[in-house]
Amino acid sequence: MIYQKNGICVSFDDGTKFRLDPRTYSPGEINLISHGHSDHLPTRCNGKSVVMSDVTQALLKLRKCAEADILSHGSVRALDAGHVIGSHMFFLDGDHTILYTGDFCTKEKFFSRGAQPVDVDVLIVESTFGSEEYIFPETKKVAAQIQESVAACIENDESVIVLAYPFGKAQELTHLLRDYDPFVDSGIFEINEALKDFGYKFRHQLFDEMSIKESREPFVLITSRRAKQLKAADEQLGGKKRTLAVSGWAINSGFKYFQGVDYAFALSDHADFRDLINFIDRCNPDVVYTCHGSAKRFARLVRDHLGIEAMPLERGQHFLSNYA
Ligand SMILES: [Zn+2]
Repeated sequence: MIYQKNGICVSFDDGTKFRLDPRTYSPGEINLISHGHSDHLPTRCNGKSVVMSDVTQALLKLRKCAEADILSHGSVRALDAGHVIGSHMFFLDGDHTILYTGDFCTKEKFFSRGAQPVDVDVLIVESTFGSEEYIFPETKKVAAQIQESVAACIENDESVIVLAYPFGKAQELTHLLRDYDPFVDSGIFEINEALKDFGYKFRHQLFDEMSIKESREPFVLITSRRAKQLKAADEQLGGKKRTLAVSGWAINSGFKYFQGVDYAFALSDHADFRDLINFIDRCNPDVVYTCHGSAKRFARLVRDHLGIEAMPLERGQHFLSNYA
């Protein structure tokens, strides 16, 4: 049985229940956390055992103040999801084989070679960008464009404020713009520092209004605290700054204006439409369940493009895992 409630529940015929990315820890079940984005970290898991990576465990402690042990289970195999550092897809081996992608990306990126497909009976796939218009350029190409834009600003004596979520994009951008020894806000600084324990080294400086005030050189600031730090930077810099944002949504021409930034780049940590279709095709599942974003529309597109049975995993709907 597969259904969506408090994350996604998968139960095998032998009674084993798995709860994938629950909002709240689910007692008596195997709880699995795919990655360390805040909206994927459950509440009430302090002192519990959860299937997750060591990086996700550290982020759970840092972001939710919860200390949980890492659980391993004979029916679960963790695979690189290529989404953010420490992100996992989960392969469940029971009555059928089931792959849950969580948020995932198949493109080779800064810290991952990308999620790799596996042959599976049932695929539960995220569909954040499951619509034909979302085709992202290769990471290397976008990365080069970001570097060129930042270099041009600095050359022009303009500082650059980069808006990024504290986990995921912030590390990619800290890495990409390392030659500028970028300033980062305290949330990003804490995460970058925590990741050092896992072998990730970042060149960064903690954002400090005083040191910026004294600085006569243009600088790069990476921040998730948009309003507060833009205001501070405005006071220090006047007009001598440019703002930059990165997101898969930047494919939409209105994104830049909606965000109120000078530059926007389509750098995403998710699979784009073409990646999704290729990944599903190569996993060769009997049935596909889509979740997040345009789940309903994407399920129809999977049926149209690949001829594979596909349906959105919606609240209140239960599917037998032997559907196919
Ligand atoms: Zn995510």
